[in-house]
Amino acid sequence: MPPLLMRLLVPLLCFAAALFLRGEVVGGPLWHRDEDVAFLLRNLPYILLLLAMLLALLSHHAVEAGVTLSMLCIYWLIQTYLQVRLETQPALQIYYLISLVAPCSIIFYALIPEQSWRQPLGLLAIGLSPMVLLITSSLLALNENFMAASAQQGLAASVFGTHLSLLSISVFFLCFMICLGLSIHRQKTLESSLLGCTLMIFATLGWIQLSAISAFMFAGIGVLLIINLTGSLLNIGFRDELTQIGNRRALRQAAKALRGPYSVAMVDADYFKKINDQFGHDLGDQALRVIASLLTKTAEGAKPFRYGGEEFCLLFKSKSKQEVLQTLEQIRLAIANYDMVVRNKKQRPKKPQQGEKRRGASKRSGELRLTVSIGVANGDGSRDFEQVLKQADRALYRAKAKGRNQVQAA
Ligand code: GH3
Ligand code: MG
Ligand code: MG
Repeated sequence: MPPLLMRLLVPLLCFAAALFLRGEVVGGPLWHRDEDVAFLLRNLPYILLLLAMLLALLSHHAVEAGVTLSMLCIYWLIQTYLQVRLETQPALQIYYLISLVAPCSIIFYALIPEQSWRQPLGLLAIGLSPMVLLITSSLLALNENFMAASAQQGLAASVFGTHLSLLSISVFFLCFMICLGLSIHRQKTLESSLLGCTLMIFATLGWIQLSAISAFMFAGIGVLLIINLTGSLLNIGFRDELTQIGNRRALRQAAKALRGPYSVAMVDADYFKKINDQFGHDLGDQALRVIASLLTKTAEGAKPFRYGGEEFCLLFKSKSKQEVLQTLEQIRLAIANYDMVVRNKKQRPKKPQQGEKRRGASKRSGELRLTVSIGVANGDGSRDFEQVLKQADRALYRAKAKGRNQVQAA
């Protein structure tokens, strides 16, 4: 899960790098002398986007695969039809088409839930935008008068010194705001990629008259998609799927970077086997997600990890066990006071008003009580991390032996 700054910086950096490199290369000494350079540059986006496609397919990122396919289609359309003056047909209509379909597709990909290409509906959702682009552009190429009037109007009403119509700029703006909001809110790399795609397609279409702008911008899109897909592939190995916090491997990695004093707390759910037996494994899973979320929210200055099963670990950098005892007590209380609503699907009421009444009642009665026992130990850069963990574990078992639902320091 890349941090917010990274999610916003990576698309901006790719955009800035594409702009900078275009400025450096176009008009430079190589540009006029070597035909091969221009040829390579024109084809670079295809190579990068195909690589991104391969990564998306290998990592089962179906929506990203759809985005990449759409980018390939848009770039191919730009290279095939838009390398002439915009006033000619069908260049004008295809430009108009892309300027509307591209931001709409990005909004669509940002808002659809995760898809699997094994289901026909998922495949359709992923392939919708490339299909619309390819079918409509073929129609435009076959019948040059199709949409000509709207495209002419769009060009005539272009704003901000670009060829883009006010409608298209408005859709791009909406698309940018949605992607920005989702990048901040959702903590996924897809939105970061979509944010970059929005910026770079907008720049391509806005400055379409600049030579090689599309090659640089779509190479930038390719690099961005590759970075984000590789990042999320690496992330899979370090994240616990159920709780979405770091796993044991991430803990070991974080431990390697520890310098100076720190403290480690082991957090173990009490009588969890009974919870599973009584309420079922699914509710047990839900309870583990609740614990992880409360640890993330309540553990100030600590990084939570799922150590395994119903055991979690908190890493407090530069803090001693004495300094974190109060925070650990707050965590214990937050979990013990959390009301988990247990609903039986078969008894789910048909009328919404009835449902509200029942939910209120079960919230008050708090059918499932979660508690945790916590053991904490001090460490410093010179000590073996495993030994510190063992000490925290011994303190944890003291907390268990003393009756559970409590914090013990080593
Ligand atoms: P104690 O208070 O002594 O820790 O008792 P306990 O029942 O929590 O400990 P025990 O080690 O006997 O049982 C742990 C249980 O946690 C058994 C296992 O089924 C359950 N568990 C481990 N991982 C998961 C998981 O991912 N999902 C669910 N639902 N249960 C899990
Ligand atoms: Mg337990
Ligand atoms: Mg345990």
